[in-house]
Amino acid sequence: MSNDSNKTIHDFDFNLICEYFLGVERQGPGSPEVTLKALSFVDNLSSESRIADIGCGTGGQTMVLAQNTLGSITGIDLFPAFIDKFCDNAQQLNLHNRVKGVVGSMESLPFESEELDLIWSEGAIYNIGFKRGLAEWHQFLKRGGYVVVSEVSWFTQERPTEIADFWNSAYPEVDTIQNKVAQLQAAGYIPIATFILPENCWTEHYYVPQAKAQQLFLSKHAGNRVAEELVANERHEAELYQKYKEYYGYVFYIGKKV
Ligand code: SAH
Repeated sequence: MSNDSNKTIHDFDFNLICEYFLGVERQGPGSPEVTLKALSFVDNLSSESRIADIGCGTGGQTMVLAQNTLGSITGIDLFPAFIDKFCDNAQQLNLHNRVKGVVGSMESLPFESEELDLIWSEGAIYNIGFKRGLAEWHQFLKRGGYVVVSEVSWFTQERPTEIADFWNSAYPEVDTIQNKVAQLQAAGYIPIATFILPENCWTEHYYVPQAKAQQLFLSKHAGNRVAEELVANERHEAELYQKYKEYYGYVFYIGKKV
């Protein structure tokens, strides 16, 4: 059980979370630059390629992928409001002919065996768990297809109790890069690359836009304790990041199906 100071986002009302994150550029740490860097490790994509972006949110990274690949992309997210915005974004960028948004769960994906050339998932696989996600999604990839996921990871063998407690309670599968790579390999992929997302993926592209959106969100929900707690929780997480960023961060893991 988490105590008040270690409350995770999963403990809050989903509609409020949805509204909160609809107000920002993206729903997890990342940037167009790192999406492109991760994509640079993926070979053999063509106009025939089938790509899935799992836990796509409003599609920040999906649109970058679409503008830099030729195939068709299916974005999947549990929340209809995110998918609505995703579809608007695709339409506005004139990508809607090959970029489709689908409401669905990463626990029961609507794909056929060996249908996909590339499975992408930024800051979302923790919802099913890194090991389970990698193992279950494997069947949908063609042989030689790629999986590209970003995931919170420890940078060091040791870390201060405050941040260890926070992440162990928020996401018990948090682990070192070395162990995550071994898990990727055990799930049937050749480890192709890993790299750490630079700090601006957390600040400029994640916490700064949130700080702006928080004002609006709080004034709209003045007096609503759940909304206030949600914001307090996000601010606490941002403070922890500033304090402990040398110990953890997001890491891209790129694997190729054996
Ligand atoms: N990839 C986006 C969003 C990351 S946030 C980005 O990097 O900006 C995690 C996303 O996973 C949220 O949009 C959330 O709605 C979605 N999600 C949570 N549980 C899910 C599930 N079981 N199936 C599909 N999507 C899920």
